[in-house]
Order: sequence, then C-alpha cells, then structure tokens
Amino acid sequence: MSTDLAARAKAADAADPLAHLRARFSLPPDTVYLDGNSLGALPAAVPDRIADVVRRQWGTDLIRSWTDNGWWAAPERIGDRIAPLIGAAPGQVVVGDSTSVNVFRALVSAVRLHQRPQDNDRSEIVVDATTFPTDGYVAESAAKMTGRTLVPAHPRALTDALSHRTAAVLLNHVDFRTGELWDMAALTELIHGVGAYAIWDLSHSAGALPVDLDAGGVDLAVGCTYKYLNGGPGAPAYSYARAELLPRLEQPLPGWCSHRDPFGMEAGYRPADGVTRLRTGTPEMISLLTLDAALDVWDGVDMASVRAKSLALTTFFVECVRALVPADRIRVLTPDAPRRGSQVALACTDAEAVMTALIEARVIGDYRPPDVLRFGFAAPYVGFADALRAAEVIAEVLA
Ligand SMILES: *Cc1c(COP(=O)(O)O)cnc(C)c1O
Repeated sequence: MSTDLAARAKAADAADPLAHLRARFSLPPDTVYLDGNSLGALPAAVPDRIADVVRRQWGTDLIRSWTDNGWWAAPERIGDRIAPLIGAAPGQVVVGDSTSVNVFRALVSAVRLHQRPQDNDRSEIVVDATTFPTDGYVAESAAKMTGRTLVPAHPRALTDALSHRTAAVLLNHVDFRTGELWDMAALTELIHGVGAYAIWDLSHSAGALPVDLDAGGVDLAVGCTYKYLNGGPGAPAYSYARAELLPRLEQPLPGWCSHRDPFGMEAGYRPADGVTRLRTGTPEMISLLTLDAALDVWDGVDMASVRAKSLALTTFFVECVRALVPADRIRVLTPDAPRRGSQVALACTDAEAVMTALIEARVIGDYRPPDVLRFGFAAPYVGFADALRAAEVIAEVLA
C-alpha cells in the first residue's frame, strides 16, 4: 500500500508546476513542516533584507529613511502588494498593527457607517460563533463600546441571525479549527440583503487560496501576514476597505499617521483621503520591510495553481491517513475539497501527546483543544512526499 502511495507522491512531486518555489524558502533538513497556517516558513531572501534595513537604512541613512528609503509610504505600498492576492484593486489595503487591532477598527468603522436616521435600529453585531477567539473577544468589546448587542451565529445558520437590526457581520473565511471554507460571495450577499456590512477575516485564506474581495462585494476585511503570507513572527496585519466606503469611513483609532497633514501637527483631526485613513501610529518598520521581502516569493505565482496544488495535497494526505491509520483511531474533521481551506484537521484521543510525538519525529503540525491535530499545507513549500511522510509517522505514533 505504502509503496503505491510512495510512487504516486514521487510522480506528483515530479509533475508539480510549483515545485521550484520550495527553493525560495529556508527550511531545516529532514523536517516536514505543516504548521504554515500558524507561522509561515522563512523566505530565503529575508535575512539579508533585514540586515540591510537595520545596518544601512537605520544605521547609516537614519531619519532620512522615512523619505529616501520609502518608509513613510510603506504601509500603503505593501498593502498594494497584498491586494492582488486577495482580489483587491489598488488603494484599498493598508498594512499595520495586529489582526486583533484591525478587527476592532473594522467593526467600529462598520457600525459608524450606519449614520442615517433610519439606521438607528441597527442595534446588533453578528459574529462567527466558530471564530478564532480573538475576533470574538474584540467584537464583544466593540459591541459594548458602540452600544450594540453581540449575536454569535454559526456561518451555516447565518440567515437566522440576520435582520433589519444587524449593523455588521464578522466572519472567518476559513475555520481555524476544522479548515472549513465558507462561501464569501454568497454569505456577503445574504448580509447585504438585510442592509448590513460584511467584514471578513482572511487570516487562514490569504496566500492559501484565491480570495475575491472586490468581486464578492465585501465591505471590510482584515488578515494576518505571518501565516500563509510568511511575513515572520508578529508581522503586521492588513485592513481592506471597499473604495466607495473610504470617503465615509470613520475609524476608531485616528492616530496622527492617518491625518490629512501629519506633519502639520494640527490640534484638530482631519482624516487623510483613501486607505491611509486606516493607519494609526508609526509603522512597525522592521517587521513591515521583512514582510515586504517575504512577499517577493509570490512574484509570478498564480493563485489558481496554488489552490490546485493545495487541494491535491490535502486530498492526498487524507487518502494516505485513511490508508495507513486504522479508521477507529482517527477522525477527519475537515470537509472534502473544495469546501476546505489549506489545512486538514484530524481528531484522536490523546491528541496533545500525539502531536508532541509527531514533532519529535520532525513532522510539525499543531494541537488545538480538545482533541484536534492541525496540519497546514502551504503549497509553495510542501510537497506530496511530505504529505505521505506525515501520514506514515501519524500511523507509527498511533500504532
Ligand atoms: C491567526 C488569527 C488571528 C491572529 O490575531 P493576532 O492579533 O495577529 O494575534 C486573528 N484572527 C484569525 C481568524 C486568525 O486566524
């Protein structure tokens, strides 16, 4: 059985049109890295770029770097590099702060968009009941601050939660635990059907599959850059706002970097035009330029091929697990392709100890309570032989 799978893995790797991307990353030898959905691998060009940013730009050019090395405009410039990966036309994405902060910014901004007298009964914020916890915590606080009621809803039962009372809805594009992918365009249409604003968290989809924010009519979106975008630990997140909303957008963290004339040092606040109004304070320049270097790996890469490979990899992995691990030892939580993102979640008893054993055997995924093993398949650097190796080690550990 395993020899047949090995032959198929070998053939699939040999025919992989994205195989050359693996060389754009530095990964330790003899390691199957399946945790790119938590912390993406290191792009090989990053260390030299960081050294240049620190030694030359900071060390030698000093304060001049804000203009001469383009530091000041980097949040918008790098936002425009992320834009094509999430189906956004230029001028709608800006990078800075954490995803949690950007979630807060998006929720309060969305509630404030309902400013007409007839919008007064928009008293509820709906949040994905399966969300990555930080989004839920922040939504609760945003609801409290804006005097709204928080309504948790499963994406599958969204219709039941929506009404003329809904101000905004915050959903995760891919479920961080099970890997289930939601239909962004269809759910956004439902949300718009009751006159509410749709906010999507792309943390587990950007860089893993094609995202079509503009085509889907999404109002606001946020996402993290240290997972499938490989921006490095703590890399700044991004915010997207649909161009036509920008002139009316009133965000809750109006720092000086979002001011129309930041160096005028005026006492009064006037928002900048465009997506710049979603900035707040001084950008985290070293992480931002690390992300900039990391984004080079996407140059010339077609997201449709990334998606095709990702689905082939996760499908093959599930097949290997089913072939090698007794069915009563493990349960596949992730829906079949194409209703999944780029990860496979497996449930088993003693999952935490199982993951510890896998990591000792150099198959790196992660554990999420109560019984979930997560395996992320980042198509740019994971291959079919890796998928088979992971399944073999899972079978050995569970034997
Ligand atoms: C990873 C992730 C985050 C991370 O938030 P941080 O503020 O960067 O810690 C937020 N939301 C979702 C859905 C995520 O998957």
